[in-house]
Amino acid sequence: MQQTEMIKKAKEIIDVFNPGVQFNIMEVCGSHTMAISKFGLRQILPKNIRLISGPGCPVCVTAQNEIDSIIELSNKNVVIATFGDLIRVPGSKSSLQQQRAAGKEIKVFYSPLDALKYAEENTTKEVVFIGIGFETTIPTVAVTIKEAKEKNIKNYSVYCLHKTMPETLRALLEGGSNVQGFLLPGHVSAITGSKIYEFIPKEFGVSGVISGFEAMDILMSIIMLLKNYKNSSIEIQYKRVVRKEGNIKAQKIIEEIFEPCDSTWRGLGKIKGSGLRIKDKYKDFDAAVKFDIKPIGGEIEIKGCRCGDVLKGSIYPNECPLFGKACTPENPVGPCMVSSEGSCAAFYKYGA
Ligand code: SF4
Repeated sequence: MQQTEMIKKAKEIIDVFNPGVQFNIMEVCGSHTMAISKFGLRQILPKNIRLISGPGCPVCVTAQNEIDSIIELSNKNVVIATFGDLIRVPGSKSSLQQQRAAGKEIKVFYSPLDALKYAEENTTKEVVFIGIGFETTIPTVAVTIKEAKEKNIKNYSVYCLHKTMPETLRALLEGGSNVQGFLLPGHVSAITGSKIYEFIPKEFGVSGVISGFEAMDILMSIIMLLKNYKNSSIEIQYKRVVRKEGNIKAQKIIEEIFEPCDSTWRGLGKIKGSGLRIKDKYKDFDAAVKFDIKPIGGEIEIKGCRCGDVLKGSIYPNECPLFGKACTPENPVGPCMVSSEGSCAAFYKYGA
């Protein structure tokens, strides 16, 4: 069957299971946001079934004071090693891109392992990898720290700003978020398994489906959420990748290197236990300790930017007054327009 035929069929099934009341589904992952926009899935759903974006884009949820601390770090005669999206995110006074133009060493790597290799080959330089992102990227960053210790690579460290997902979903629900179902992130869940979400139906009576990233994966997940609307539960649609227990080996390496700490999320503020820090045993590889750096102050907002509301699912990106006017992918005002997983970028690229 052609994809358009399959989408038509899925739409018919969604109509059958339409609960007839307002049903808000939050897609937690930035890759889902992009896929939903790309396949035009929002437009084919009945009016009472809304897809709203959540806090699942790692670059977008990195708080402004964290971005400012990365900029400060780049002034300390180090090589900043980072994923590409981060360099265009505006800080309060500068961005990594502007720092690079001013002569600071900012290097983009596709994998933390490449950054470690670079450090190994350039022993006169202090290389700091910027650890942002969720459970998907955390295990690889953990591997670099373990390997750096084993190989005695002294010029490599990680500035750990990693965040974890379940505490944030709890914070959203406790904050009275009007969500009846979650499309849960496939890649994160491949590492964590589905158990971390069990509190969602138990304590809040809301369902979640761990979804794949193709149009049919997402539509199937929506159908599963609608079918289960009265008996909340956590289900796995993305069975070809996600197991209930997750990836035990990856979980073990995370536990060995990191421990939970509080973390500030853009738009959501400080959330207890939603971040990770490097354990004392590995403190030689902790850039926060090595360079005495940390995010200062509480949450700072960019004037006029509504990223915080977009990340909470309170507004659609095109409801921000700057969308498509003062804020475009060429001249982004906030991170949601910079990141390849940002909701504002998705709305701009594929239309609202
Ligand atoms: Fe921020 Fe731009 Fe998105 Fe508005 S459109 S919320 S300014 S990133």
